[in-house]
Amino acid sequence: MAETKEKCIFCRIANGGDDTTRILDDRDNLVIFKDIRPATDHHYLVVPKSHMEDAKHLSSKDIPLVEKLVSHGQEFLEEQGADVSDVRMGFHWPPFHTVSHLHLHVISPQREMGWIAKRHFQTRLVVVQNPRLGHEATQGTWLIQLS
Ligand SMILES: [Zn+2]
Ligand SMILES: [Zn+2]
Repeated sequence: MAETKEKCIFCRIANGGDDTTRILDDRDNLVIFKDIRPATDHHYLVVPKSHMEDAKHLSSKDIPLVEKLVSHGQEFLEEQGADVSDVRMGFHWPPFHTVSHLHLHVISPQREMGWIAKRHFQTRLVVVQNPRLGHEATQGTWLIQLS
């Protein structure tokens, strides 16, 4: 049984307790479901079943988890026939998130994102490229800091 937090909506969804959300994928203690307000045709959330706080709480011991979230997100996009060459992936950086349960946004294709969504998911997401690189900002892209 995953470690869950009472009243956390993502804990409930990830563990099958929410009838209105369709779990699209369930493997390796992670689930994938569609964003409630999708920015493109393929906008999913990859969510650990266990409750984890936001990306700010990640540390270097979580690198395998981050890599797993990213690789599952990529695999899932491929399975859905999404354009995997034009993907935006990232975590919210506090205080900008609506649900305080770690979730990776996976959005494809970026070119179909409207400007509001682009802005929202640029300034409010820590974009994952290579989690091992540490923190570095290049052209509005934030790499996640794992210290
Ligand atoms: Zn939770
Ligand atoms: Zn979110």
